[in-house]
Amino acid sequence: MSIKVIAFDADDTLWVNEPYFRRAEEAFYGLLNEYLQQHALERELLKTEIANLQLYGYGIKGFILSMIETAITVTNRTVNIEIIENILALGRQMLDEPVVLLEGVEDVLNALKGRYRLVVATKGDLLDQERKLRKSGLAHYFHHIEIMSEKDEANYRKLIRHLDIQPDELLMVGNSLKSDIMPVLNMGGWAIHVPYHITWAHEVIEDKIDNERFQSITNIREILGQL
Ligand SMILES: [Mg+2]
Repeated sequence: MSIKVIAFDADDTLWVNEPYFRRAEEAFYGLLNEYLQQHALERELLKTEIANLQLYGYGIKGFILSMIETAITVTNRTVNIEIIENILALGRQMLDEPVVLLEGVEDVLNALKGRYRLVVATKGDLLDQERKLRKSGLAHYFHHIEIMSEKDEANYRKLIRHLDIQPDELLMVGNSLKSDIMPVLNMGGWAIHVPYHITWAHEVIEDKIDNERFQSITNIREILGQL
């Protein structure tokens, strides 16, 4: 392997993220349970979120707006202002959550530091990702933090140009096959998938990956054995 740079996804790779969204969704379904059953609310919210991605991007603020929009739709525009206030409070609570590192992360970064250039490649809201990185205490491990609006092949190509490396000098580590793995493999880079126990429906893909530059591991510590 010719790897010079290891890029880490952040949410659900370095630290806990998706459970906070799930908890807010559960609370949201509770707020609206007199209007629609949970599975119908789930469908409506996901549809609204996906439709809004192009406008709002990923992250908590877009999620809050999508919850409000869904509440307006499913109540046929009769939503009580208290429900809107509760949704806003759910969002504020999410933005104030502690950053909980996943098991093994800090040991892996310590072991790789100095041997490779380490970077973070994440999507989401700029301000919120900066907040999490600061709270995580991990910022000093990284040469560069890339916050992308969409993790697609074009943006990964921009990243390697910025890092002044060839595609096969990049290894990407992340929990999302769709965002962290497929675009990097397609570009000619290396990718290690570390699945997290829950994945947002929009990130799920069913394809089997058959690529010599791809590995799937169960704990981030196993990276050290792959390099
Ligand atoms: Mg992730």
